[in-house]
Amino acid sequence: MSKEQVIGALEQALGSENVISKKEDLVTFSFDATPDMPNPLPDVVVTPSTTEEVVKVVKIAHENKTPLYPRGSGTNLSGGTIPLEGGIVLSTLKMDKILESDPDNLVAVVQPGVIIQELNNEVAPHGLIYPPDPGTVATATMGGSVSECSGGLRGLKYGVTKHYVMGLEVVMADGQVARFGGKTVKNVTAYDLVKLFTGAEGTLGIITEITVRLIPAPEARTAMLATFDSLEDAGNAIRGIIASKVIPATLEIMDQVTIKTVENFSKIGLPTDKRAVLLIEVDGIPEVVENEAEKVVKVVTENKGELKKAKDDKEREGLWAARRAALPALAQLKPTTVLEDATVPRSKITEMLMFLEEIAEKYNLDIGTFGHAGDGNLHPTILTDVRNKEEMERVHKAVDEIFKKALELGGTLSGEHGIGMAKSKFLEWELGESGMDVLKKIKNALDPEGILNPGKMVSK
Ligand SMILES: Cc1cc2nc3c(=O)[nH]c(=O)nc-3n(C[C@H](O)[C@H](O)[C@H](O)COP(=O)(O)OP(=O)(O)OC[C@H]3O[C@@H](n4cnc5c(N)ncnc54)[C@H](O)[C@@H]3O)c2cc1C
Repeated sequence: MSKEQVIGALEQALGSENVISKKEDLVTFSFDATPDMPNPLPDVVVTPSTTEEVVKVVKIAHENKTPLYPRGSGTNLSGGTIPLEGGIVLSTLKMDKILESDPDNLVAVVQPGVIIQELNNEVAPHGLIYPPDPGTVATATMGGSVSECSGGLRGLKYGVTKHYVMGLEVVMADGQVARFGGKTVKNVTAYDLVKLFTGAEGTLGIITEITVRLIPAPEARTAMLATFDSLEDAGNAIRGIIASKVIPATLEIMDQVTIKTVENFSKIGLPTDKRAVLLIEVDGIPEVVENEAEKVVKVVTENKGELKKAKDDKEREGLWAARRAALPALAQLKPTTVLEDATVPRSKITEMLMFLEEIAEKYNLDIGTFGHAGDGNLHPTILTDVRNKEEMERVHKAVDEIFKKALELGGTLSGEHGIGMAKSKFLEWELGESGMDVLKKIKNALDPEGILNPGKMVSK
């Protein structure tokens, strides 16, 4: 079929109100939150509401070997939704139903277009939470965050998305519907395909239903702000907190560039003269929270830091709003923000922080670093301008060095933002030739025509 015939077939299958093909409407779907990417237009965008409609779209794509790009809210930071080869973008935003909230079994079942925060709003009256909370919790979809295996601020204690996905319904590349896992806590039936599709970045199938685990909301919590005159002291305090057997729900860092920028942006009284701040929250039953907070105070003081506890919910929310403002605040300074998420073992955080300062100096770049320090997941953010070709060359060299260093320190290319287009060229550094071979075999077996999100993570 020609492109026009494919669009006609999609209109017939879904109704023309669910098919977008005007050029001006397609522009929105040519980019996501990732900078420095090509922005090709898709030929068409479809907005199915049900699994049956997704099946119809996939069958049309399969029969015509048309590239198919699943898309949630487009907030990913690895070029995951860019329609590199034109074709069809499948937006899940109309698949936005919470199908079941089941407090007795501590699970919920959702369509992929449900926004993460909406799930939390739904289960909160039952005293439950769904812990994965990327900075985009109020905008990102469940389907997108499962496909990226998103982490977030609570990853240190509560883990990341893959620790909460119990079951999936997936439309495979040929249009078959497969279901894996379910509501039971224990399930060792066959391969763990739930994990395979979690983090597959839309390259192996389209997720149409997600069953997730919920947990009781913590009874009490204490948020703290620790300030330091040196990055080394802050790094040592992070190690010290974990070594004292306290696993905070959140342990975040902001360097001085980020502190100054966030303060300028949100005026909440952050100490701009300090080299680093840690935002720490311990939660659980009140006695444990009190005890853990005391241990944190001790470690921070031993590492020459000063500590302030949030005295009420308002102050606590102010601290977290400041942390969530880190990226938007940095993004105001220059037209382009190149944000990485190379991750190192916790014991290597100090070394990585110092290395990032060296890299900023070596390549004469503005780098603000913040991130989930407690799990070694730093977000060095290079402030630049894609139109400045000479500076972009230095940016690319700096990024190469950051990834090399992370791997050298026993870390990984991505703690939570995925591989997409942005990091596929580095993948072999981490996986080696044989690891890449396994990846390609899985991709070829499940998507032999290579129609699902081509050009991302691993090519056919
Ligand atoms: C300001 C900011 C802060 C962020 N903070 C964090 C953070 O703290 N932690 C973190 O982990 N991430 C973070 N992110 C990255 C991003 O928000 C997450 O990856 C997010 O969960 C993606 O959700 P989405 O709905 O936007 O997915 P999209 O960007 O639309 O899609 C992401 C990927 O999933 C695929 N996909 C989408 N839906 C489906 C589906 N139904 N089936 C199969 N594949 C699908 C897409 O093809 C793409 O490859 C941040 C991003 C921004 C811009």
